[in-house]
Amino acid sequence: MRVTITLACTECGERNYTSSKNKRKHPDRLEFRKYCPRCNAHKVHRETK
Ligand SMILES: [Zn+2]
Repeated sequence: MRVTITLACTECGERNYTSSKNKRKHPDRLEFRKYCPRCNAHKVHRETK
């Protein structure tokens, strides 16, 4: 039930991180606050396909 996801910056769209999640626990898109090297700041990163 674990799937690999990509986390993209919501400001610039850069895909900076990959992670995995339990699809049963988190059926919706996840969001994390992480560092974006393009924005040079911490931004919200959202799961993308
Ligand atoms: Zn960014």
